[in-house]
Amino acid sequence: PKTIGVLALQGGVREHVNMLAALGREARLVRDPADLAAVDGCIIPGGESSVMDKLCRMFELQQPLRDRIQSGMPVFGTCAGLIMLADRIVDGMAGQETLGGLDVTVRRNAFGSQVDSFEADLDVPELGPEPSHAVFIRAPIIESVGPKARTLADVNGRTVAAMQGNLLGISFHPEVTSDTRWHELFCRIVDGITP
Ligand code: GLN
Repeated sequence: PKTIGVLALQGGVREHVNMLAALGREARLVRDPADLAAVDGCIIPGGESSVMDKLCRMFELQQPLRDRIQSGMPVFGTCAGLIMLADRIVDGMAGQETLGGLDVTVRRNAFGSQVDSFEADLDVPELGPEPSHAVFIRAPIIESVGPKARTLADVNGRTVAAMQGNLLGISFHPEVTSDTRWHELFCRIVDGITP
């Protein structure tokens, strides 16, 4: 079976590990290039993208991650993980870099400090007829989706989920809900099962 990693430098790692375990997949924590080399796909969790960026460079994972993404490794980014996957950030911290790969422009903390977190039911045709209950925590939005990517979901006209080949980026946190469908979708991508 294919091995799924969770980038474990910072942020909500445990929730993703537990979600994968619920689906019968043992996750490998990715903390260095050797861990990365051992996985077939990787989840980048929520957290703080500017800190995650610094840690990626410090632990010499930035270039290996970029190389794997460019050569087609499936990656699922949630919240800060979506920011890490984005080709462009409009309001990054000074010097903040992303890994890139997903042809989208993101805006961090886009719902504003008045609305630190909220929940919404999203219509996601990709996941089937049941709405996806989404928990947003200091969430980014996808301000624009470039021609290589496509929108999977939006909330009040703002794009919050996008996909491009083996890359999946969402601005919310299914790993804190009981909805396993996003992780199931990612497992299918890693396993090479296309609908
Ligand atoms: N605001 C965070 C950032 O910019 C993301 C928040 C989250 O991952 N829950 O990285």
